[in-house]
Amino acid sequence: MKEMIERTLVIIKPDGVKRSLSGEIISRFEKVGLKIVGMKMVWINKDFAKKHYPEALIPVLTEKTFLDYDAIGIKVNEKRELVGKGAYEDLLKYITEGPVIAMVLEGVHAVEVVRKLVGSTSPYKSAPGTIRGDFTHISMGYATYKKMGGRNLIHASGTVEEAKKEISLWFKDNELHSFKSVHDEHIMPN
Ligand code: UDP
Ligand code: MG
Repeated sequence: MKEMIERTLVIIKPDGVKRSLSGEIISRFEKVGLKIVGMKMVWINKDFAKKHYPEALIPVLTEKTFLDYDAIGIKVNEKRELVGKGAYEDLLKYITEGPVIAMVLEGVHAVEVVRKLVGSTSPYKSAPGTIRGDFTHISMGYATYKKMGGRNLIHASGTVEEAKKEISLWFKDNELHSFKSVHDEHIMPN
């Protein structure tokens, strides 16, 4: 039972904060019964951004950009690796352009549940009802093409391993709290 209860990292990115969507986003997690066990507003610098988004992400950004380019029918002359590197630099600028709200959420299968509520990376493909699908619509292809960073409002850890690493990067142990919420009475009745 205990091992099914997970913690995951969520970040409301600078576009979410500036668009005053923080309350709306947080309430979606609260409404499904996920517990906020840590939260803070921080304005990260480029060094920290590179710890959160290491360069190893570049092939993923390249892949996702070209998936959108192919779907939309955009042809670019620039080399694939350069496109990915450009998208990465733009991502670092985007994530450091204003304060973000970082939080740790706890619940049963929290990592997967949060990803479900967040929606897929490229908002033009994110299902309605998800945070990305309901509050933005751009594609990662458009973002890379316009050199604006993939503005999709929110970050959520992708796996349990990623969550563990990311939580220890963003939060000290004494910034995370253990307490009982009313939902605990429903999900852990015994
Ligand atoms: N991103 C981007 N261009 C892309 C793909 C992703 O700018 O082609 C950005 C976007 O903000 C995304 C972040 O990079 O949220 C991390 O990418 P990842 O593949 O981990 O997506 P996520 O896990 O956030 O859905
Ligand atoms: Mg990710």
